[in-house]
Order: sequence, then C-alpha cells, then structure tokens
Amino acid sequence: MKSLWSDTAAQQFADSPLALRVYSSRLLGRDPDLVLHGGGNTSVKLTEKNLFGEDEAILYVKGSGWDLGDIEAEGFAPVRLAVLQHMAGLEQLTDSDMVRLQRAAMTNPYAPNPSVEAVLHAIIPFVFVDHTHADAVVTITNSPGGEEKIREIYGDRILIIPYVMPGFILAKTIHELTKGIDWSLYDGMVLLNHGVFTFDDEAQRSYQKMIDIVSRAEDYLGTQGAQLNDVDKDSTTGLEAGSLPAGGLQALARIRKQVAMERGSAVYALLENSMAATTFAGLNDVAAIAGRGPLTPDHIIRTKQLPLILQPDITDDDTAVNDYAKAYRNYFERNASAQQVCLDCAPRWAVWKKRGLLAFGRSLKEAGIIADISTHTIKAIQRAEKLGGWVALPEKDLFDMEYWELEQAKLNKNKTQPEFQGKIALVTGAASGIGRACVDMLLQKGAAVAAIDIDAKINGLFHREEVLEIACDVTDSAALKHAVAATVRRFGGLDILVTNAGIFTANENIEDLSDDTWQLSMDVNLTSHQRLMQYCIPFLRHGLDPAIVIIASKNVPAPGPGAAAYSAAKAGLTQLARVAALELGKDNIRVNTIHPNAVFDTGVWTEEMLQSRAQSYGISVEEYKANNILHTEVTSKNVAQMACAMAGETFAKTTGSQVAVDGGNERVI
Ligand code: NAD
Repeated sequence: MKSLWSDTAAQQFADSPLALRVYSSRLLGRDPDLVLHGGGNTSVKLTEKNLFGEDEAILYVKGSGWDLGDIEAEGFAPVRLAVLQHMAGLEQLTDSDMVRLQRAAMTNPYAPNPSVEAVLHAIIPFVFVDHTHADAVVTITNSPGGEEKIREIYGDRILIIPYVMPGFILAKTIHELTKGIDWSLYDGMVLLNHGVFTFDDEAQRSYQKMIDIVSRAEDYLGTQGAQLNDVDKDSTTGLEAGSLPAGGLQALARIRKQVAMERGSAVYALLENSMAATTFAGLNDVAAIAGRGPLTPDHIIRTKQLPLILQPDITDDDTAVNDYAKAYRNYFERNASAQQVCLDCAPRWAVWKKRGLLAFGRSLKEAGIIADISTHTIKAIQRAEKLGGWVALPEKDLFDMEYWELEQAKLNKNKTQPEFQGKIALVTGAASGIGRACVDMLLQKGAAVAAIDIDAKINGLFHREEVLEIACDVTDSAALKHAVAATVRRFGGLDILVTNAGIFTANENIEDLSDDTWQLSMDVNLTSHQRLMQYCIPFLRHGLDPAIVIIASKNVPAPGPGAAAYSAAKAGLTQLARVAALELGKDNIRVNTIHPNAVFDTGVWTEEMLQSRAQSYGISVEEYKANNILHTEVTSKNVAQMACAMAGETFAKTTGSQVAVDGGNERVI
C-alpha cells in the first residue's frame, strides 16, 4: 500500500492539528482498500479554552454522516474528553444512551453526532487516532487461524482484540483489556473481523503506521499466493467480460422487478460484468463461497448478510428472489428478540452465475455503494480462500449488527421519497422543448432517465449520473433498439416511456406536398414511435407500474390547412396509442396521449414565426401566446407536468385517454 502523504500538500493544512487531521483523514478516505463510503473514523485531541477561560481537553471525532474522503473541519464533532473517558468506566450503558451522552458533552451543539466509536478514541492516549477497515488485514482475520496469522505477521507490536459489537461494548472491552498497559509499545491495534486502529502524537506518523500495517498484511497475502492479481490470473474462466446472452436484459429487468416488489419500493439494478466480476461469478463453487458472510460487519446494513444467487439462465418462473426472501425471514426468526421488527426481505446484491454481480438500490448512490462493497468483498473472499477458506462471523453476531439500533437509525433518515424514486424512464427528443422539460421533471421526481435526441448537444446536456445521454436518430431502427438496450443495461429495467421526438414539417398543401416532406413526417412522427414501443414493450412488461406517454398534437382533433403530412402522422400516432392501450392492458402497461398546442418555449417556434403569426391576427406577440380560452401561456413545463401525471399515481387507473394541454381551444372542445 502506497503512502499518499505529500509534505507540500500537508503544508497547506499545517496551521492547526485539526486541519492536519482533515488532511490525513482524507488520505485514508480516498483509498477504497482502507475504507468504503462513510466507513472508518478518525480523531484528534486538542486543548481549548472554554467560556470561562479555562483549558479543556476536547476530542474532535468524525461526525456521523461524513465521509473521510472529503471531510472538512466541520465534519468533526468536538466532545469533552473527560466525559468520554468517564463513560468508558461505566458498568453498563445502552448505545442510545451513549449517543445521547456524547451529544450532551459536545461543545458545539450544531456539530454532527460524534461517531459511535468516540469513547474508544477517547481512551487511546495519543493525539491522533486513525481507524480503517483495511481489506488486506480483515481478509487475514477472516481466514482460519486469523488471530495466529496476525500475531505471526506483527509480533508483539500489535494489540489484538477479539470481535465484539462496536459501540459501548467495544470501547468498554478495550478499556478493560488495556488497563495499565504501556501503549507506546504498540504500533496499532487489530480488531478481529473488524478493522485496524493506529495512533500517534503526530498526524503523519499515525497515518504512516496504518500504511505500514496494511502493507505488511498485503505482503503476507503475497507470500501466501493470495495476492489479488494471482487470484485473477489463476481463476480466469475465459468468459468475455460484458457479454450477456440473448434474453439476458429481459432477465435482468425481471429480477429487478422481483427485488423491488420484495423491497416495497422501486430499485435500480446495476450490472457489474467486468473481468473480475465475471471471473468470480464463473467459479464452480461461487454459491458456496459467496454465501459465507460479509467482509466486515459494518457492511451488513448496506449489503445484508448474503447475496442472492442467480442461475446463468433465468427462466420466467425463476423463484430465486422468493426463496431468498423466505430464507431471510427464517434467519430473522432464528435470531430476533420479541420487540424486533423484520426489515424488508429483499437482497441488496446478487451473484449472477457466469454473468457478473448485481447491486440493487433505491437510488443510484445506494446501488453504487453496494456495488463498491461487493466488488471489494469478492476480492477479499477469493484471497481468503487461498489462505484456507473464508470464515465470516457467526450468524448471531452479524444479525446483532444488522439490527443494531444505531445502524438502523442511519438508514431510516430519508423515509419520504419522491414519486419516481428508483424508477427508470426513457424520453426521446430530450435535447429541447417538451422532451427536455420531461427529463427535468422526471429527475426532480426521483427517476433515472435515458435522454435520447438526434442533436449531438444531448451529450453533456444534463451531466449527472441519473441521466444516460444518447445521441440517436429515432428513425434509425438499429440505433434505437441499441439505445433501449443500453438503458436497461445501465439502470436495470424500464418503467416509463415518453415518446416525444417530433418535427413540424413544412407548410405544403396536399396538391403540392413533396414525397420527401410526407415521408419524413411519417418516419419521425409515426413509424419511429411504433418501433420504439416495439423495442420497449418486452422491458416495460417487467416494469414497475409501467406507463407509455405519447406526445401527439392538437392538430389531431383540430387540423389546419397546409399541415397534412404532420397532422396525418400525428393522427396515425394517436390511433397507434389507442391500439397500444388495448393490447397492453393485460400487461398492466398504461398508454395515454397528450395533445399539446402552441407551446412556445420549444425549438419548433422561432421569434420570427411568432411575430408573423401575431401580425396576421393583428395582435401582439404576448396576446398571441395566450390566445386560448384560459388566456394563458402554455409552457413545456406544463406538458411535462401532464406527462408525469400520466406516468404516475394520478393516472394509475387510466389508459387510452387523450388529454389536451393547450389552454383550452374552441375547435377542440
Ligand atoms: P423541439 O424542437 O423543441 O424538440 C423536439 C426535439 O426532438 C429536438 O430536440 C429534436 O432534435 C428532436 N428530434 C427531432 N427529430 C429527431 C429524430 N429523428 N431523432 C431523435 N430526436 C429528434 O420541439 P417540441 O415542441 O418540444 O416538440 C416535442 C413534441 O411535441 C413533438 O412531437 C411535437 O410534434 C409536439 N408538439 C409540439 C407543439 C408545440 O407547440 N411546441 C405542439 C404540438 C405538438
């Protein structure tokens, strides 16, 4: 393991020990082999003047909710050291009381809650304390004879602590075990199945001790033939990373739906089929070794104890998710006390044999965290197998961690979710006007969206991980099919289709209508929508409350002269929508149509067009814009609101409808 310490960079943090604490915490947090997503914690002990001008020893410890990788000074909670040290001597303390007391001992009530390891940090008699869940060290402790191996590697310079629950019990255990010892004889402390602590009066030395301890563990893995690269080399199955068989994406969408139903909310399913993931998923004994438990108990609230195991070819009547849920309930019943309530029984990740790994999350962030944890877990499992076999903690210890009140509190913070959280939408014509407004509103309501447009400006337009931007001409069937597949591959399924791309073709009377104008309108405004539905239906069928929203036009109920190519195509599109509603009802897919009119904040309308139209009516542009029954201007956002209503709860019982968004039009009414 390489030290990331730079004297030049550290210089910028040299004005206070807290600033240096920030610097070295970030170094730890930026190495995923040390800590992952909010894992690990660090502290620094300072003396500060209190309100009465007296010196007071304060522990600045990582606040909960902060990530070491990008922590700031305000991410550390200042707690009176004497109170924390006193707490370590208590006979008993529930963890919720510990949290309450820690908070009450803070000198800044606006700081975040101190880490649940604050008491432990307080009793370690050094200025800087660093704590990580280093993969290499935990891997060794999770193999047979782990404790002896740690002793063999580090000799007497390391304190070894058997596994106990984190929080007060851990702090108390270490307090008892270390009474009267000379801490200066130790470089660090290994907590079996949990992680590593290092400490020193200088930030750099404490950090360097962590790097040294982890490096020695990595060297040991190397000498035992358990280095990661060896694992990769030895067990390559020859599978081509990234490939899925025919029907594989539909199977993915089906599994995602089953997991969402079990979880009680929509989820994304991220497929990881890198070489490392497919290699692991291709191991003959993968089901046995993946089923032994997590890398560290800290991961269990994110990943649950076990992954779902999926067969390479998933059939329609596959019961894997159901079986997983039953087994989870049994696990709960075996371990729970009377007051505990069972969490949802859905898996958080899956090993899809021969195909790769899946991570399920209500947000892409959650799924991403789970994907990272599972990637690290499979590496550690394979290394530990080379050390004689992966040995995780007993089930009861893992259960206690999963149902630990303090861990549960972390998860229950964001209970209310936007309407489309976890849902997956595809919008065409997304670079401008109505399509763009639909993407914005779907995002605002929590969805992930594939945004498709012929205009290359779509690339980089939204620039966020919830949007898959695809430059694609909807009249190019092969490209369109590929775009739909890419959407399912990226997010795990499809729930909402807003088929919107369209062009207003030139004003030409029927007599003079060119073949090109007619054909272009038919291709873009009609045929492409049929093709898109055709490609999406197999996935929508496995969608969550799936819906298709079709953007037609007021020209359907109230055509105008000169717009035959446009109106005929839009009328055909409306008829297509009606037939789709009839055909897809049995699959619970709702199909509804919007007829917008005179939506001026779009690409079809230019300033010149507006001026000339207004002039021809002898009114101002402003009057022309509100030239409807409600005397109101209709915007892209208004159409997007209707599209979201149709895709959501409001239209849950409606299909085959046509709704005007036009401010009221006499000819339509
Ligand atoms: P817009 O021009 O602002 O947006 C249309 C988008 O579709 C553009 O980004 C364009 O690049 C894209 N597009 C065009 N051809 C494409 C193709 N072959 N492949 C992929 N993308 C393509 O116009 P808008 O008003 O937002 O139009 C959206 C829909 O609303 C259209 O179907 C249009 O017919 C319909 N509509 C608009 C109005 C209005 O007054 N604006 C009225 C009735 C209906």
